[in-house]
Amino acid sequence: MAEGKTRIGIMGGTFDPIHIGHLVTAEAVRIEFGLDKVLFIPAANPPHKQHAQVTPAIHRYIMTVMATYSNPSFFVSPIELERPGPSYTIDTVRALIDQYGEKSDFYFITGADAIADLPTWKDIDELLGLCHFVAATRPGCISMIDAVIRRFGAKGRQRIHRLATPELEISSTDIRERVKLGRSIKYIVPESVEQYILKEGLYRG
Ligand code: ATP
Ligand code: MG
Repeated sequence: MAEGKTRIGIMGGTFDPIHIGHLVTAEAVRIEFGLDKVLFIPAANPPHKQHAQVTPAIHRYIMTVMATYSNPSFFVSPIELERPGPSYTIDTVRALIDQYGEKSDFYFITGADAIADLPTWKDIDELLGLCHFVAATRPGCISMIDAVIRRFGAKGRQRIHRLATPELEISSTDIRERVKLGRSIKYIVPESVEQYILKEGLYRG
């Protein structure tokens, strides 16, 4: 990691909907790793969720913009929404390198659950050469992350980092379930996102 390089965080996700777990994690990684900015990148057609019902991308994109607008270091990129076909991280990172040039270092931010699947990601060996990974640990996941790091040997130790973040047991799945059951989602998502979900009638089932 050379001096003077711009450090760019990539927070990929379905964001169906975005919640404070995503935001708190991205902010913690931004501070800890000295990132200049974090790009939130909603997935168009997540390869691992192809059979699940995913909310139209336009809603997920709008909610992500509303949730991030007040943080001057947070940006939303439509890069995966504009690209046809499944959203593979390797294609996204290659496109970002084209866009930002070699003068940037990329840090892909994930939760512990996503890091567990890393060995199955498309072109993972090449991907580890192109960007760092920061695994935010949810409770009880530290040993699992260490196992993934060991699996990739020296490259894993160099490129995969762990960060303990506030233990937010929040998931989009839980939020969708709460809306369906008519329960409150106040303070779990930003107020603008809560209002948008209610106004558009999302997740009512
Ligand atoms: P779903 O329940 O629909 O899978 P999710 O809450 O896991 O949604 P995603 O959009 O799938 O959200 O996740 C995007 C990224 O954010 C992933 O890397 C995931 O591991 C991470 N993440 C999700 N929830 C949290 C949380 N509460 N704390 C830290 N990271 C999280
Ligand atoms: Mg998930």
